[in-house]
Amino acid sequence: MKYILLTFSVIYAGFAYSQNHSSQLLTPTLLAVSSTTSAQTDSKPSKAKPPKNIILLIGDGMGVAQIYAGMIANKKPLQLERTRYIGFHKNQSADKFITDSAAGATALAIGKKAKNGAIGVDSLDRPSVSILELSEQNGLSTGLVATSSITDATPGSFIAHQPKRSMNEEIAADFLKTDIEVFIGGGRQYFNQRQDGKNLIEELRKRNYQIANSTEEIANAKPGKLAGFTADKNPLKVSDGRGDQLLVSTKKAIELLSPNKKGFFLMVEGSQIDWGGHANDIDYITTEMLDFDKVIGEVLDFADKDGNTLVVITADHETGGLAINGGNSKTGEVNGGFTTKGHTGIMIPVFAYGPGAENFTGFYENTEIFHKIKSAMKFK
Ligand code: MG
Ligand code: ZN
Repeated sequence: MKYILLTFSVIYAGFAYSQNHSSQLLTPTLLAVSSTTSAQTDSKPSKAKPPKNIILLIGDGMGVAQIYAGMIANKKPLQLERTRYIGFHKNQSADKFITDSAAGATALAIGKKAKNGAIGVDSLDRPSVSILELSEQNGLSTGLVATSSITDATPGSFIAHQPKRSMNEEIAADFLKTDIEVFIGGGRQYFNQRQDGKNLIEELRKRNYQIANSTEEIANAKPGKLAGFTADKNPLKVSDGRGDQLLVSTKKAIELLSPNKKGFFLMVEGSQIDWGGHANDIDYITTEMLDFDKVIGEVLDFADKDGNTLVVITADHETGGLAINGGNSKTGEVNGGFTTKGHTGIMIPVFAYGPGAENFTGFYENTEIFHKIKSAMKFK
């Protein structure tokens, strides 16, 4: 017995030595790899030019099952399947295992964990600069488009700094503190029917924003700044007649933002995939998912043509605990099962396309997305 143990420990020592030895051999290679990586991502000059534009597409509540439900319902590949660089983010918030959309979007927007309900502030409720504001500071044009109220948690976290997502009127007022060029979504009432009696739509007009109140008016907007209001509160479901509002709004935003030679930052949200999850309604999920996928196709086409645009597609969290219990990819039938009417804590896929996309593979916290974008764009 002693003999065997001794032999084992000799073998073990040899193994440990060879492990150590090989890791020493590997060290120079690893160092070389990591120094190349940092040369591409820090502010030192490198051969790789940073992308000019960044388009962030957020499907609220869009986990792997929501995407796969969309793939089945579509009966052919999704536009999303054109992406080749895929990673996963972990989305626990500063104070809860299960995040809400405010803390989820805030992590993406400011690169810091926040408490559930918080908009563009850190875990101590201190305002922190967002990727949209950083883009403005670096001379880019900026835009936000959503199929919820534009003051809702997801778009709000990129432009506002408030401790609670319910503070819609304060969030609306924050839109006028930033030089955003285009924003389109619902929530008109938070701008023109306010407790404080102010009419922020008049304020926006004075600052040379065109005001649009329908999909048609959005489509007809001229070059310049645009505030598009698609509803007093929440826009319709696509299955209730919202039509191609999100696609038209995204196209118009790109058209108005792209003349800036320094580039632009645009965030577009498929807001209601989440609401389908809360309603445990598989048809609501798939119709919103496919509406969002049309936008993904449009954005990837723009990125192909432009050649200088980084596209990042992700979600804040999953909603509903959706499972695919059956389906038929010929008929498009999806049999969804749900574990909750709320959100779940599962990791979320990240899809990237265009220059810098390779930095988005692997596993990381949701806050890393801010830092990956910031370093790809070489923002200070
Ligand atoms: Mg949202
Ligand atoms: Zn939700």
